[in-house]
Amino acid sequence: MPNDALRDACLNRFLQYVKFDTQSDENSETYPSTAKQLDLLRHLQAELKSIGLEDAAMDEHGYVFATIPATTKKSKVPVIGFLAHVDTSPEMPGVNVKPIVHRDYQGQDIVLPDDRAAVLKFKDNPALAEQIGCDIVTASGTTLLGADNKAGVAEIVAVAEYLVKHREIPHGPIRVGFTPDEEVGNGTKYFDVARFGAVCAYTMDGETRGEIEMETFSADAMTVTFHGFNTHPGYAKGKMISAIRVAADFINRLPKDRLSPETTDGYEGYVHPYVVNASVEKTSVKLLLRDFKTPKLREQEAFVTDVAKGTVADWPGSSVELKVEESYRNMKEVLDQHPQVVENAREAIRRTGLKLREHPIRGGTDGSRLCFMGLPTPNIFAGEHNFHSRLEWVSAQDMELAAKVIIELAKVWEERA
Ligand SMILES: [Zn+2]
Repeated sequence: MPNDALRDACLNRFLQYVKFDTQSDENSETYPSTAKQLDLLRHLQAELKSIGLEDAAMDEHGYVFATIPATTKKSKVPVIGFLAHVDTSPEMPGVNVKPIVHRDYQGQDIVLPDDRAAVLKFKDNPALAEQIGCDIVTASGTTLLGADNKAGVAEIVAVAEYLVKHREIPHGPIRVGFTPDEEVGNGTKYFDVARFGAVCAYTMDGETRGEIEMETFSADAMTVTFHGFNTHPGYAKGKMISAIRVAADFINRLPKDRLSPETTDGYEGYVHPYVVNASVEKTSVKLLLRDFKTPKLREQEAFVTDVAKGTVADWPGSSVELKVEESYRNMKEVLDQHPQVVENAREAIRRTGLKLREHPIRGGTDGSRLCFMGLPTPNIFAGEHNFHSRLEWVSAQDMELAAKVIIELAKVWEERA
């Protein structure tokens, strides 16, 4: 059954939030990486208070937490949480976003008015086939929309307001949280799991309706630094050893037909050289190591090490240094220990009348880190599509469905307590 009030609340809040420029910045030394994120975070804190979440508070790092008070008569209903990030990707402008609502979508291609080359094509977006008759929101062609993750923010605030008004719906205490800097990999840096105080949480930051994500890559970052020998190129015969050439040779020796982002999908991992800092004396290559099975990362590391050492062996006088840092781990390792977290979410999605969609995330989420910080956190759809793109879109109906899933999930936890 459509819930017009919930849908309008999601849409109206969303249209308001996307007007805040909250782009994060990976080269910043501050936290949050951009102060403008705090404008939306402060705004959300005030909104939560005005809705009736009296404990809504922002900590010194910008995290906004609040509690939807329990309505249940049961005494031992676990505290669960819902999270969304306020920042938008540094890859695409997020200032002066002009959201456009395309009412009653009929399967046409949508041309964005500020750049007519920006066309949301029906045939390139399979998810649009499920959106006939829906109200689709896009940006105007020159910016991202910010559905990632302001759709999730809007859904959570709309639900908070709804549950405060509908105290007949039984649920335990629900924590809500809004975080900065997810897009620059720092969304959980100062996340205070104890202060959040929930047994588990759900990030509302997924894509297609019905989706739940509980598997992510395990990820390490590797830096391979080649040392050469620089001298005046006019007099370099027999002396110069170019670290650039050694590094190029190394990259060329990495497999091209497998183990690369361009040739893998599903559960396949990869080794991905993605940044090179080059000079004749010293050239470093940064690589991403990715696999769903954590032990496989050790194999990837050994493989890259062998290739690097084999390369310098063919360039006498050169040498190599290797460094590996842990990035994040597959959340499934933690979620498997708390099966009810995912099981209750599946049940909530079914009760909302949706087909359950589950597939591995070929990346990480804030939830991957939170899981290992002691807060099991799978990811649920928010209706966001074409992340980080000018062609980003979300529908009001999908936001409504995601909001309903949140409500059902709160009910399921109460029922099963
Ligand atoms: Zn996101």
